[in-house]
Amino acid sequence: MPIDDNHKPIPGSVVTFKVFGVPVRLHFTFILLLVFLLVIGVGQRQSGLMTALYILALFASVLLHELGHTLIARHYGIRTLEIVMFPIGGVSRPERAPKAREELWVALSGPLVNLLIAAGLLIWVGVQQGFVSLAQLREPTDANLAERIALGNLLLFVFNLLPAYPMDGGRILRSFLALRLPEEEATRIAAGAGQGLAILMGLGGLLWGNFILMFVALFVYLGAAHENASARGRILTSGFPVRAAMITDYRVLQHGDTIRDAGNLLLTTAQHDFPVVHGDSVVGLLTRSALVRAMLTQGPEAYVAGAMDREFPRLSPDQPLREVLPTVSAPGSCALVMDAEDRLLGLLTSENVSEFLLLRQVSLAQAKEHPAR
Ligand SMILES: [Zn+2]
Repeated sequence: MPIDDNHKPIPGSVVTFKVFGVPVRLHFTFILLLVFLLVIGVGQRQSGLMTALYILALFASVLLHELGHTLIARHYGIRTLEIVMFPIGGVSRPERAPKAREELWVALSGPLVNLLIAAGLLIWVGVQQGFVSLAQLREPTDANLAERIALGNLLLFVFNLLPAYPMDGGRILRSFLALRLPEEEATRIAAGAGQGLAILMGLGGLLWGNFILMFVALFVYLGAAHENASARGRILTSGFPVRAAMITDYRVLQHGDTIRDAGNLLLTTAQHDFPVVHGDSVVGLLTRSALVRAMLTQGPEAYVAGAMDREFPRLSPDQPLREVLPTVSAPGSCALVMDAEDRLLGLLTSENVSEFLLLRQVSLAQAKEHPAR
């Protein structure tokens, strides 16, 4: 399943290697799942080697699925920033969101890879030894390894084609909806379907006491909710520049100020993050967490210049607001708005962006109720 628009690496991932020049990272929850599968997989009739082989084959299937997305995206000139392996599948992060028509093929390519693997294995098994019944597959043995890998790929194929975000099927649904509806509206419907599906899966998991189903439901819900919120944000900010939402009434710290000065400013104002200036130019940004860290490790007499972030995110006032949402979407994030001559014009924080979204929502609701005004 490809996801878009967040250019920061996904946190929580360990172990990285490259395939076709694309970094592949394993999320720590994925590694936990591998260990879990290995532990429950070693039964009486299945050797440790075959269990490891089975898990490795499923891992490779998920990875090939993502590489399917990657290669078709590349065909449309979209680079993949990274592939992250999560327990319910991989996530590939394209550098830009594909257009509706491109998205259909990018989304289809992953599940098709799994269908091809399953078909290939089943044909091979059929030629070699004939099929075994589904009932026999319930017990993992060394002899039915190929059938179980094929079955796993069929499940991946079906699961990923569910017409709900964040599954590939949700993207396919969205690309069809986008033929008739605005893109954001289409995303909202596909994401809503994802949340509905997740709730059903979660209820099913509770009813049947199926822990894995509940776990998958949680992941699907979070993915869909994230997509829904960012679609809503894009609708509400559409047509507005960064300038429209930035804070213009703010305080700054001087290069020579101490952590104590910064602490006083934190207490006496409502501001959390402070630009640090030296003469007319901005030299850094002191966030609240950096301020607290410096207070603990260096004490109140240390200079802010030693604790500030020199590589702070900077935005131009005329940039479309919808494009910079990922930069300030994480809670507590702050970016400085600067003109072409590097003069400071304002701050954009996650807090005031959400206030901007709130006001836009209210004014849209009012415009609906009183269209004459
Ligand atoms: Zn996929």
